[in-house]
Amino acid sequence: MENKKLIICGKLFDGIKDELQSNMEILIHGNKIVEVGKNLVRPQNVEVIDLSHLTVTPGMIDAHIHGNLMKWQEMDTILFQSEGYSTLAFLHTAQRCLERGFTSIRVNGMGPEGFGIVDVKNVIDRGLFPGARMKVGCHMLGGTGMPGDMSMYASANPPASEKMQLSFIGSGPDFFRNQVRREVKYGGDFIKVFISGSFLSPDGGPDICYLSDDELRIIINTAHELDKPVTSHVYPCHMMKKLIEFGIDGMEHGALMDEETAALFEESGTYLVPTFTPFQDMIEGNEEYIAQNTADAQMKLRKYAPILKKSREIICNSKIKLGFGSDLCAVHQPYESWYEYRCWIRSGMDPFRTLKSATAVNANILGIDHIVGTIEPGKLADIAGWHRDLLKDCDALSECDFVMKDGIVYPTSNKVIDTL
Ligand SMILES: [Zn+2]
Repeated sequence: MENKKLIICGKLFDGIKDELQSNMEILIHGNKIVEVGKNLVRPQNVEVIDLSHLTVTPGMIDAHIHGNLMKWQEMDTILFQSEGYSTLAFLHTAQRCLERGFTSIRVNGMGPEGFGIVDVKNVIDRGLFPGARMKVGCHMLGGTGMPGDMSMYASANPPASEKMQLSFIGSGPDFFRNQVRREVKYGGDFIKVFISGSFLSPDGGPDICYLSDDELRIIINTAHELDKPVTSHVYPCHMMKKLIEFGIDGMEHGALMDEETAALFEESGTYLVPTFTPFQDMIEGNEEYIAQNTADAQMKLRKYAPILKKSREIICNSKIKLGFGSDLCAVHQPYESWYEYRCWIRSGMDPFRTLKSATAVNANILGIDHIVGTIEPGKLADIAGWHRDLLKDCDALSECDFVMKDGIVYPTSNKVIDTL
């Protein structure tokens, strides 16, 4: 007989309305939501789950994660990790995300070689391991010396650095056409490309471009021919404008945004995952946390601080389709996606816009809005519960009390694992 569950909600954010509804109940048959409303008729043998002390939401989604670190301090050792270790780190992150109420994640590519990330996604989908549902961009396609070129960490020793060059870093349209096809062949759900430098990696900085127009065009066109979306790590406005012109689906960061470029995002419907987390300490002047970055990253962050602040205001005041993504890898643990909520609320973002970005909008960006992202009949039962006040408490997502994915209840844990 089909398993039936009824959740009694203290308050309900359904991912659709800008309100917290009271006295709502959710009826679940197997892994699907079948009814949402007040005083529902209770079928025989229904298991009642009383969450009347919690605010119930759709399972949260983080649209920008780098999961191949067990802890953030390992950032500069990625190059020396085996693929096996990296694959296990992805699984670790997916498990930690789930137990913190994030039922889906989008992995934004990183080294090393190999496609272990796809294995992690598949074993979770098959129910062999608990973990967040995943959409994966396997690697960061880009030019030599760009942020995902991990051999940069050995650039003081050119012969050694050359030997460490990753296979998805290169140049020329033919090279990138083949790389896009390889990413799709081995299980990538979308293509992640690096167009500009970065704040946190040892490269030329956020204004530098590492790919030419013909390389960008071939990447976007080849992916679209294979029916896969493309997103780009990008900062400067002239590059964002170019990507919109070339027909890219979305972008990540955009932290040097101006009003003219924001208007182009709005007109074209291109999404942006602004990843406020890596820049929050800089914007708030939190010296203790800024000091945890490398000297090179600190120098870049300080140099660009005024533009980062202005850009944040422009993004928050815009009507850009915004995805919620933490970019966790460099300072906080990869699975502490709740931190992005703090950043949005402290930036003056409306809590309902933030919650929608982390649920319904992100489900659309991940291409899974037909199955998750809202609490309504027909959707999979991906549901989370929180005891803190989501409308007033910017750290409310740091303590998850209940999580269900695909109709199954999993244990929650808010522990930070930092002693590996
Ligand atoms: Zn990232």
